[in-house]
Amino acid sequence: MIIQPMIRGNMCINAHPVGCAAAVRSQISSVQKWRAEQGKPKDSPKTVLVIGCSTGYGLASRIVAAFGFGATTIGVSFEKEGADTHPPKNGTPGWYNNMAFDREAKASGIESYTINGDAFSHDTRKKVIDIVKKTNKKIDLVIYSVASVVRVDPDSGKLYRSVFKPIGEALTGETIDAMTGKITPIGTDPATDEEIFNTIKVMGGEDWALWIDQLAKADVLSEGIKTVAYSYIGPSLSYAIYRDGTIGEAKKHLERTAKKMDAELQASLKGKAYISVNKGVVSRLSVSIPIIALYLSVLFKVMKKKGTHESCIEQMERLFAERLYTGDAVPTDNVGRIRIDDLEMDPMVQEEVKKRMATITQENFTQVGDLVGYRHDFLVTNGFDVEGVDYTADVASMESI
Ligand code: NAD
Repeated sequence: MIIQPMIRGNMCINAHPVGCAAAVRSQISSVQKWRAEQGKPKDSPKTVLVIGCSTGYGLASRIVAAFGFGATTIGVSFEKEGADTHPPKNGTPGWYNNMAFDREAKASGIESYTINGDAFSHDTRKKVIDIVKKTNKKIDLVIYSVASVVRVDPDSGKLYRSVFKPIGEALTGETIDAMTGKITPIGTDPATDEEIFNTIKVMGGEDWALWIDQLAKADVLSEGIKTVAYSYIGPSLSYAIYRDGTIGEAKKHLERTAKKMDAELQASLKGKAYISVNKGVVSRLSVSIPIIALYLSVLFKVMKKKGTHESCIEQMERLFAERLYTGDAVPTDNVGRIRIDDLEMDPMVQEEVKKRMATITQENFTQVGDLVGYRHDFLVTNGFDVEGVDYTADVASMESI
């Protein structure tokens, strides 16, 4: 069948299996090229667990660990599988991405194990522990890159839902339709205390801490283990919806978790726990956050003009090579966070973005913002608009790539 993108609201609700596989291969090729240019790494992870491995930052982390450093990777993600039923069932992009990753890893002789399951459940943790024990390995890097709107607490069975909402005051802002470029006003009420609590339950540090605790108890973490969870800060113009909103509260909880975990890991395994603050990119969730979507399209224009624009893969190359595995101490900011959002937060970039955001209109948007680049990233996330893929060709299977 011919597969075209199906867009509902600001979401692309289907995936192109061949396109997803091509996008993964393209990320792998760029990492291989980068490694060849860099030469031999000074230090490397050997066995890496990536929780949230199928898309965005988690997928890029896994690709860099495997193809940039030769690490064995264990990936966990929660994706809907495709099936060649009647009618055929389209899987989620991450389902095809994982398949492409495993195939390419195998072809390159790199060990990889992929688990499709709920990262929030004890059962999935047990599956990971079983793999590590069976293969006689110890994990020396755990990347926590889960982005979810729901979490079932593994002990109480209660379901929590996260929201992107401001705290204290209602918010009005604008958002952009990735396909048409139409700018529309968007508003949201302030979060209730329950919504703040629930967002922290889903996107805060509780689940990350459960992972590290259970992996440590099962004795599958190596001495000197590093673990990293991802965060975002962004510009002051997005604070009301991000840093000072419900998600910001969850990220602050994640940061407090890192401090506590770091002390515990140092004492038990000479290990380290970090937060890495990453750059804003187009992802399944970021396109639906008021203000952020418009900000990103302007940011891309400014950073591309300056020659400093990065996607997930370049961000992860820098995280691994220039922060985590330099052969020396990991550079952090004054509160202990790794910053690879440095190029985004460059004062000159932010000044220019602020100026552009203040003058944006529907008419001047294509000059002020990068609609073409933003739309491309939006489509590529679901396997569309990938270079070299013939979208008029019949896709033979929904089950495989
Ligand atoms: P993403 O949506 O691309 O990826 C999320 C991953 O989490 C996927 O692999 C998905 O399968 C997995 N996942 C979701 N629910 C799960 C579950 N119950 N069990 C197992 N896996 C599950 O998200 P992303 O944008 O790459 O974000 C990853 C992290 O990076 C988040 O912490 C996010 O806040 C942070 N971050 C994102 C941005 C950005 O602009 N997108 C910027 C900085 C930091």
